[in-house]
Amino acid sequence: MSYLNGLISLCDSFGCRYKKDESLKEHTTFKIGGKCSIAVFVNGEESLSATVAYCRENKVKFAVLGNGSNIIAEDKFFDGVVIIIGNDFSKINYIKDGVIECEAGLMLTRLCVTARNEGYTGLEFAYGIPGTVGGALYMNAGAYGGQMSDVVVSCDYLDTDGEIRTISSECMDLSYRHSAFMGSGRIILRVRVKLNKGSVNEIEQKMEELITKRRDKQPLNFPSAGSTFKRPKDNVFAAALIEQCGLKGFSVGDAQVSEKHSGFVINKGNATYEDLMSLVEHVREKVKTDTGYELELEPEILK
Ligand SMILES: Cc1cc2nc3c(=O)[nH]c(=O)nc-3n(C[C@H](O)[C@H](O)[C@H](O)COP(=O)(O)OP(=O)(O)OC[C@H]3O[C@@H](n4cnc5c(N)ncnc54)[C@H](O)[C@@H]3O)c2cc1C
Repeated sequence: MSYLNGLISLCDSFGCRYKKDESLKEHTTFKIGGKCSIAVFVNGEESLSATVAYCRENKVKFAVLGNGSNIIAEDKFFDGVVIIIGNDFSKINYIKDGVIECEAGLMLTRLCVTARNEGYTGLEFAYGIPGTVGGALYMNAGAYGGQMSDVVVSCDYLDTDGEIRTISSECMDLSYRHSAFMGSGRIILRVRVKLNKGSVNEIEQKMEELITKRRDKQPLNFPSAGSTFKRPKDNVFAAALIEQCGLKGFSVGDAQVSEKHSGFVINKGNATYEDLMSLVEHVREKVKTDTGYELELEPEILK
């Protein structure tokens, strides 16, 4: 790992934090994962661009993480750099005429709170989704009838050739839990959402109503990545199919189909990647055999 010294000097020159031999358990909401060579907490466009360029030049494997709430990390050592776009890259740049521009590492819930405080409606659906704005756009995250594609107007991203480009939402190919960023190597830097003026009280009420629903229905006291499977079809829910197959509460090691919400696989303590993936495979096979539906994993696997 001869590249580490150079990378550390680079981090120092930008004043950005890093942690060597960092466990990915600390950076995924599933609390599963082995160590990586180094985690770099980029603190702006410059440190991000430089870190990516450094990895490319030195042929070092790298992966990008936001809040790790839709990621499954393997238990084995990740021999490379995990670039974390989080708190250190999370400013709100401006709020003007209903448009809010923020950096990709801002937590979505913080953006919702800011919008509410400013009296802007449109983001209530996202309150309680535990991801960053960049991760939410990448996934086109959504809930309770809303999704990122309803509010995003454009974003700036770091392209694979090292250039920074702007793209409007129409060109992002946003659909259910899908965007053009997936598998593209493009890294989201800044996102602009457009909201409408509303009543602070009504926005507040809606947000409270939705967070209460989450607390009532979801196993939030256990580590998870939220919904484990995508909806196989409009109005067909993975949770219902899983229950229909008698798999509620089914477990492999410490990985379990939640008793509270069958759409969530939870980590009851020390679940391993193997436990989780064996469980996922069993669920997929049984659902396919019994119902004909093919369930697709919603979280991405960190490779
Ligand atoms: C309890 C719980 C409830 C949840 N509820 C919902 C829900 O209601 N609706 C929903 O849609 N999701 C939900 N999720 C899943 C998850 O929170 C969202 O998908 C979220 O948008 C992921 O954001 P993240 O920052 O955590 O991304 P990560 O998990 O860190 O990353 C996910 C993917 O995005 C990529 N990525 C992250 N940031 C960037 C960036 N800046 N540029 C390019 N690529 C990037 C990563 O490389 C990775 O491939 C839930 C998860 C949990 C744990």
